[in-house]
Amino acid sequence: MDFILASQSETRCRVLRNATVSFYNISPNIDEISIIKSLVNDGTPHSDIPNVLAEFKAKKISAKNIDSWVLGCDQILSLGGKVFSKPSSKKKLLENLTQMAGKTHQLITANVIYKGAKPMWRYTAVSHLTMYPMTQGEIQSFITNFWLEVQNSSAGYCFEKTPHLFSKIKGNWFDIMGISITQVLNFLHQHNYARTASTPKIAAVLGCPVSHSKSPLIHRHWLQKNNICGDYIAIDIPEKNFSNTVKVLVDVGISGFNVTLPHKETALNLAHSKTKLALEIGAANTLIVDSNGDIKADNTDGYGFISNLEANGGNWLPGAGPALVMGAGGAARAILVSLLEAGAPKIYLTNRTKRRAQNLSEELLGKIEVIDWDEKEKLLSTISTLVNATSLGMTGKPALTISLKTLNKKALVTDLVYTPVNTPLLAQAKNAGYNTVSGIGMLLYQGVPGFHQWFGVLPKVDQELIKLVTK
Ligand code: NAP
Repeated sequence: MDFILASQSETRCRVLRNATVSFYNISPNIDEISIIKSLVNDGTPHSDIPNVLAEFKAKKISAKNIDSWVLGCDQILSLGGKVFSKPSSKKKLLENLTQMAGKTHQLITANVIYKGAKPMWRYTAVSHLTMYPMTQGEIQSFITNFWLEVQNSSAGYCFEKTPHLFSKIKGNWFDIMGISITQVLNFLHQHNYARTASTPKIAAVLGCPVSHSKSPLIHRHWLQKNNICGDYIAIDIPEKNFSNTVKVLVDVGISGFNVTLPHKETALNLAHSKTKLALEIGAANTLIVDSNGDIKADNTDGYGFISNLEANGGNWLPGAGPALVMGAGGAARAILVSLLEAGAPKIYLTNRTKRRAQNLSEELLGKIEVIDWDEKEKLLSTISTLVNATSLGMTGKPALTISLKTLNKKALVTDLVYTPVNTPLLAQAKNAGYNTVSGIGMLLYQGVPGFHQWFGVLPKVDQELIKLVTK
């Protein structure tokens, strides 16, 4: 038997795909705007309108596919006694958003399943969303940036991309996306169609900007590999909105987050509990939400760094001898903490701006000795691990210039920079016969603990993933 979604909505298709339900979709081609107008004119209660439309869609497709289950969904936005439907023009959207800004509206989402041209099941959800006030300039800029994405949305916004527009929400992620997947899955599972009735889990990377992030590629690969119901998305959040937006996203049921620049310190501060490592590093890159909605902050950069060297560094042992870390930025801090934790007997730290290295060494109170940037080559014969934690060598930046002539023959050389994967430093070290490890592995391993806690499966860093991320 088939399961058909009577919709052309890419969002609804994606939710069903991520729920690992086998289906295909057919567009019902109905004139929604005229139907809504006539229902409103007839005095139909707003809560019934999406139900009538969802039924219309399911019935139409079911009549031609008698043996299939057919799901019809519809969503309307109700505010102040008015129904808002898909904006017909940018002018209409401007009008709608002007009325919605600063107020609480209802999103009513209806789901109806038909079989044999008869209704078998229905479910309606009501979500309450409060928008921040917006100036006309902010509304105009939203329309300029998002018109293509929102012109087919009944709400006129794209919650998944701009959750920071909302100050408060009572509702659930999937109802807001326009399909009540928990209830749909329950129905399909009871009828032996869906393999699971568990609600798909959602995680996200939060940053500003975030479009460059490779995290969605990595986590979606793991979701697919492990046949897990869920999704992982990237959300761009302006710095000033970060804390409240995280709260809103937790309230709608998101399981956790990766956090990237510039939010890592705010992420640590907003968490209800913090791991020792996150506290020592002073920043969080992973947030885990528990069943009470409490947030635990972790920092997995150091875990990623050490796991990468353990997996790809041959016989490398952190305690084998001193390390020289070049660079004293945000990433260096995590490297220093994790190397000390892993048992490095001593760390030499060097940075172009010496004061920054001195501050780090004073804060971390470890066995860290700061040396001048120009003196770094003098120590090379004594070290076991050489780390580039500067941004030198990154595509578009100058290479790190260092002579490796005196470097201890047993030393391992690693670079945090991973674009390119084979940095000038790694190429130079490889040519001289040294054991080298690329920073790409650190990027992949740092995602492992978050994925494990959000989705319940310990994912693998394999060649397929490395190929995917580096192509
Ligand atoms: P950051 O906070 O901006 O620090 C940049 C570091 O590079 C500072 O130590 C800076 O020295 C140094 N630097 C920049 N230009 C330099 C130059 N011309 N000469 C000498 N030193 C220079 O950056 P970050 O977050 O620590 O990241 C550092 C690198 O690690 C980046 O390339 C990043 O992509 C990479 N990274 C990789 C991973 C991974 O998973 N593999 C994770 C995190 C970061 P000053 O203090 O003197 O400015």
